[in-house]
Amino acid sequence: WAKSAGKADYALFDEDRNAREVHRYALAQALPAALAAGEMFLEYQPIVGLAGGRPPAVEALVRWRHPERGLLKPAEFVPVAEETGAIVELGRWVLDQAVRDAAGWPDGPAVAVNVAVRQVRDAGLVRDVERALAGSGLPADRLCLEITETALMDAEDERLPGPGTLRTLADRGIGIAVDDFGTGYSNLARLRHLPATALKIDASFVAGLGDPEGDRFAESVITSLVALAHASGMTVTAEGVETADQARRLAALGVDYAQGFHYSRPVAACDIPGVLERLVRARSRAVVHATDGP
Ligand code: C2E
Ligand code: MG
Ligand code: MG
Ligand code: MG
Repeated sequence: WAKSAGKADYALFDEDRNAREVHRYALAQALPAALAAGEMFLEYQPIVGLAGGRPPAVEALVRWRHPERGLLKPAEFVPVAEETGAIVELGRWVLDQAVRDAAGWPDGPAVAVNVAVRQVRDAGLVRDVERALAGSGLPADRLCLEITETALMDAEDERLPGPGTLRTLADRGIGIAVDDFGTGYSNLARLRHLPATALKIDASFVAGLGDPEGDRFAESVITSLVALAHASGMTVTAEGVETADQARRLAALGVDYAQGFHYSRPVAACDIPGVLERLVRARSRAVVHATDGP
């Protein structure tokens, strides 16, 4: 079998890969029309305080209801939209929609919006953010921009256009979170000088907690990241929290906030007030149980 594989299979593999590439680019090309046709929508996932209280924020996550391909997750179209530049228009739409939804939630949470490095490099980001806030009436301190660790290091590279943009936004009171932290290759010494207000620990470290192989490693990474973030004046959020045990461990390690299926899956904007109420009630029950204990 191995012998007969050879060239023909490779050709097949190449063709497959080619078809996938063509398909990816077709999606990016269709994106502006999809936006205009109302095929894109946002879901929101709560970020809860591990020490209690009302969930302080929700993260906006984009989805595409594609007429032929069904529901598409961002992994299927965001990376290619970054490559082609379509992300700038998509990002502007996400920002507008998220800020408008957030302004409608009574004594509402902040809203966290993911931004790609292309958006930070685009000269229009500050203007787009200001326009979105002014148009909706949402105060600047109820908006947080999330940028992945790798993208942030790129965006802050002084040899390329873009640095200073995040600082300008941070100076206006907008939160800046470093997303998926621990998956890139940050220069840790630089972290302190970045305009970031929050650090989000990647879900892969959270998944390590309670795993017999990875537990000790995950615990020491999380401990170091908490120390590093707090010493740099940033809060710490853990992503991908799926169990009550992980939540307890993270709280014990000094993590400030948590996000994950354990609390809530991403939901439609109209469901956010109800989900937040449920989380507040669940939390006060947990506190009652804790103080009731032996
Ligand atoms: P992210 O910003 O790190 O968002 C968290 C992802 O983890 C989301 O996936 C969320 O649904 C998922 N998640 C949350 N809790 C859990 C959990 O307990 N377990 C597991 N297994 N997963 C969990 P999603 O919505 O598929 O988004 C994937 C990524 O796509 C995001 O990762 C973000 O980097 C990017 N993205 C999403 N929306 C946007 C957007 O509007 N603009 C840009 N530039 N990127 C976006
Ligand atoms: Mg994010
Ligand atoms: Mg993340
Ligand atoms: Mg992530």
